[in-house]
Amino acid sequence: MTQQDAHAGALVLFSGGQDSTTCLAWALTRFTRVETIGFDYGQRHRVELERRAALREGLAQCDPRWRDRLGPDHTLPIEALGAISETALTRDAEIAMGADGLPNTFVPGRNLLFLAFAAALAYRRGVVDLVGGMCETDFSGYPDCRNDTIQSMARTLSLGMDRPFVIHTPLMWIDKAATWALAQDLGGAALVDLIVEDTHTCYLGDRNQRFDWGYGCGRCPACDLRAKGWEKFKAAAGSAR
Ligand code: ZN
Repeated sequence: MTQQDAHAGALVLFSGGQDSTTCLAWALTRFTRVETIGFDYGQRHRVELERRAALREGLAQCDPRWRDRLGPDHTLPIEALGAISETALTRDAEIAMGADGLPNTFVPGRNLLFLAFAAALAYRRGVVDLVGGMCETDFSGYPDCRNDTIQSMARTLSLGMDRPFVIHTPLMWIDKAATWALAQDLGGAALVDLIVEDTHTCYLGDRNQRFDWGYGCGRCPACDLRAKGWEKFKAAAGSAR
């Protein structure tokens, strides 16, 4: 494989949520071969994993170029993460702020494990470009979403596997309203509609209620962020007319 071929591929951490779906669309506009990886760790909102196939199909329909570029999907079971973490994402507990100043939805080390598994898979697939939806702007204080953490991890993975890994985080410095706007730029109304209809963000895994911004409980921190971002995005779109 030539160096150029290696850089044509990307592996996207794809959970089936709004952020990772936007990142997948971003990758499809930049890389000629894009594969996806998802993790099943017993999360309460594992309904998001079930959205992935429909979303990949929807993205393929958004743009014929995206259809040609979309490669295989990989799902890795990592029950160990659920077994070692006592959090509101993996246990049936009320979502609340902890004494450490972090919400109890924080799964310690989650993104570090995800990135290590993703890099190991990317190594085997001849890919060095990883793409993830980590964001420091709306990050609820999760320390493993910080840019410093991600860039440090890229260096560790590059050293540990002797490959020049790059971790792309297109959402790192933007808020949820700008994430909706990015989807609009990348794939127009078709992509925004797909994200509203088929992505899942709600921590509680609730898909019984439909809001303008999609399905969810409408009350958990993830629904709250998504709803506020949508309102701001719509207000900005309205004033631009
Ligand atoms: Zn919710």
